[in-house]
Amino acid sequence: MAHIVILGAGVGGLPCAYEMKEALGKNHDITLINERDHFQFTPSNPWVAVGWRTQDNISVPLASILEKKKIQFIQDRVDKINTKDNSLELKSGQAIRYDYLVISTGPKLAFEEVPGSGPQGYTASICTTEHAVNAYKKFNEFIKNPGPVVIGAMPFASCFGPAYEFAFIMETVLRKKRIRNKVPMTFVTSEPYIGHLGLDGVGDSKGMLESDLRNHNINFITNAKTTKVEDGMMYVDELNDEGELKKQHELPFSYSMMLPSFKGVDAVASVEGLCNPRGFVIIDKYQRNPTFTNIYSAGVCVAIPPVSTTPVPTGAPKTGYMIESMATAIVENIKSELEGKQPHARATWNAICLADMGDTGAAFVALPQIPPRNVTWFKKGKWVHQAKIGFEKYFIRKMRKGYTDSIYEKFILGTLGIKKLE
Ligand SMILES: Cc1cc2nc3c(=O)[nH]c(=O)nc-3n(C[C@H](O)[C@H](O)[C@H](O)COP(=O)(O)OP(=O)(O)OC[C@H]3O[C@@H](n4cnc5c(N)ncnc54)[C@H](O)[C@@H]3O)c2cc1C
Repeated sequence: MAHIVILGAGVGGLPCAYEMKEALGKNHDITLINERDHFQFTPSNPWVAVGWRTQDNISVPLASILEKKKIQFIQDRVDKINTKDNSLELKSGQAIRYDYLVISTGPKLAFEEVPGSGPQGYTASICTTEHAVNAYKKFNEFIKNPGPVVIGAMPFASCFGPAYEFAFIMETVLRKKRIRNKVPMTFVTSEPYIGHLGLDGVGDSKGMLESDLRNHNINFITNAKTTKVEDGMMYVDELNDEGELKKQHELPFSYSMMLPSFKGVDAVASVEGLCNPRGFVIIDKYQRNPTFTNIYSAGVCVAIPPVSTTPVPTGAPKTGYMIESMATAIVENIKSELEGKQPHARATWNAICLADMGDTGAAFVALPQIPPRNVTWFKKGKWVHQAKIGFEKYFIRKMRKGYTDSIYEKFILGTLGIKKLE
């Protein structure tokens, strides 16, 4: 009997645990370790930050559901991974041994790379639901005394969609409150152009998103290297395409939300031979670390190369569809190994996403993720906003019940009318 430990109960780890149990049944032990006692549906965080959702709406308590599924749950933080004796050291002092480890720890949010940024500083964040709850508190203060807003993404960010979503969602809320006229808005991004999205664009994302920003009176600065933030003031170096300084900006703000640089979490990044220099887990085509072959990884914590080199560093996004397929491949491969066979399953590295824009939305498909592509389109419409609400309900319901089948594959592909990707 093998012990499979899944580290992290996010969009990657929780479905992976359910699917692993389904695949391996009673024959093997499965343990899920997560520092929080609940799962958070991260894609809904922008809605929490404007009060359209509460934390409870988008959270799933883990203990009772996992007990029913006969998956052991430990609410604790893993502080050290000992690859020599295949064990984990937890914050509580407990030690856990594993035969196979699946790392799905998401990102470390590296606010420290830009002094003054982040919830401990002067900018809000929507990266965790707790951050989004705090962002909403700040937002409520802000609307009593509105002024300039700066929203965007800092150097080494690898997830740009939520920054655009939040800008358009906030713009919608301000319009509905009839105070938009008091709020100059600026979108500040490390992307080389609007709509790059860490993917070197998808279809006409550049033209469409630029046009949307203009239509919504949102100014923008690209190739933006945010260097520091002070109370009410953001300092930004705008670079040219050669990476040289083009202009320095001092942007006053009454409210700001900036996505930070993503890195690997400390417990993972500190394991010698496991990660790239930014702390992301190196994996082969079967999601398995080449040095420690009993360690697999899925989600934002895996190392994938940037789609293109940009004057201000940016990373490639890892979106839900791709993450789900990574988890499914891991389950297949660990099952194969336990049956004495070789791992063979591979994830689908395509970017497919529904992005909300307040009262409308944008859907994109980039297949494969790195251009030139076989399929590339970017479409807008109110139907995307509705589809995203439907998807949120569907995903959270599945998590509460103990998901066992492909959520993204069924819902997103179904919504977009795509039968099969490859
Ligand atoms: C605001 C936002 C919106 C997004 N919206 C979308 C979207 O609409 N569509 C889309 O496809 N993608 C979206 N993404 C991208 C991606 O789908 C999400 O980031 C997703 O949550 C990533 O899943 P994950 O499992 O890799 O990491 P996470 O969901 O971050 O989960 C990681 C888990 O590991 C736990 N953990 C970390 N370290 C430890 C430790 N040492 N010990 C114990 N537990 C630990 C964390 O507490 C967390 O529960 C969004 C990302 C963000 C930030």
